[in-house]
Amino acid sequence: FDNAPATVTFATPEVQIRQLREQINLYNYQYYVLDDPSVPDSEYDRLFRELQALEHAHPELLTPDSPTQRVGASPLKAFASVQHRQAMLSLNNAFEEGELTAFDKRIRDALGIAQVEYAVEPKFDGLAITLTYENGLFVQGATRGDGYTGEDVSSNLRTIRAIPMRLPVENPPALIEVRGEVLMLKRDFDKLNRQQAERGEKLFANPRNAAAGSLRQLDPAITATRPLMFFAYGLGIAEGVPQLSTHAAAMDYLASLRLPVSDQRDTVQGLAGLLDYYTRIGAARPNLPFDIDGVVYKVNSIAQQNELGFVSRAPRWAVAHKFPAQEALTEIQAIDVQV
Ligand code: NAD
Repeated sequence: FDNAPATVTFATPEVQIRQLREQINLYNYQYYVLDDPSVPDSEYDRLFRELQALEHAHPELLTPDSPTQRVGASPLKAFASVQHRQAMLSLNNAFEEGELTAFDKRIRDALGIAQVEYAVEPKFDGLAITLTYENGLFVQGATRGDGYTGEDVSSNLRTIRAIPMRLPVENPPALIEVRGEVLMLKRDFDKLNRQQAERGEKLFANPRNAAAGSLRQLDPAITATRPLMFFAYGLGIAEGVPQLSTHAAAMDYLASLRLPVSDQRDTVQGLAGLLDYYTRIGAARPNLPFDIDGVVYKVNSIAQQNELGFVSRAPRWAVAHKFPAQEALTEIQAIDVQV
């Protein structure tokens, strides 16, 4: 073949998928296990979606060990491991309005209803934690880990003042698992990094990494010096609690147990309500005392949530609507300036 093109080789989908999985698994390890990511979230999200698209186009290449089918990463052996009574899943993401429209339509079609009521709340940019209370006493707290097995970080969680060690109510539930996020407030993060600099120690890339690194210390005395905050956003197993028929009612119940919950939580009707909330929280974002990377929409009715169920790594009844990444914004601004 004299006139064959020069050796331009395109990787087969199989090779591309393998390379993407290896890359994403490495980023997962750096982010979830080492608390030390090497790329911005926007780059990670881009590769993740590329892998999802390839697997969608080539379903025969989809395997259960793909990062698109799994949550987080394996927990560190240095901590005792905790089997979650109920899996701690991730969330599917929507980055564009079209994806959100499709999410709302899927739900309306599956439930056969014209309009859905959603519970809406900020998406805290920290790390997922479950707290277990027995008869009102805090007995254990764990990280999400791979969704099924997490790390026992109870001693470290005891140093967080916002987390009640005893639920201050007359008739506490027999057993309750509170799901939420540990994070560091922006002002505490700035202060911590100033201190780190003064001591000539490594600076944290952002409040999320500072929170994760601080909570996953083997020595709780170190965690005790780090100002961490907790917000509850859901329930796992719950025994001996009042009948809770909506997510909003569950959040009000958690608030009544004096667990910190978001003031920005709300309930809205249909797609228009979601978009309005996204704009509202987007405008409030710079003034919030903590980082958020989007908002979360959940079908409010628990009966409807149960009807919708789960797929591999995330519930069908919820989605995280992400804000554009800061670095992506900067790129757009830079282009604007050039034009
Ligand atoms: P996610 O952060 O996109 O969403 C799920 C998590 O959101 C839950 O586990 C929970 O912890 C949290 N959350 C916050 N507020 C919530 C609320 N109100 N209700 C319910 N959940 C709430 O998913 P993930 O699987 O934890 O992480 C994936 C993301 O992490 C990626 O999209 C990327 O942004 C980032 N990441 C980055 C790297 C990197 O190398 N930069 C590596 C891995 C992951």
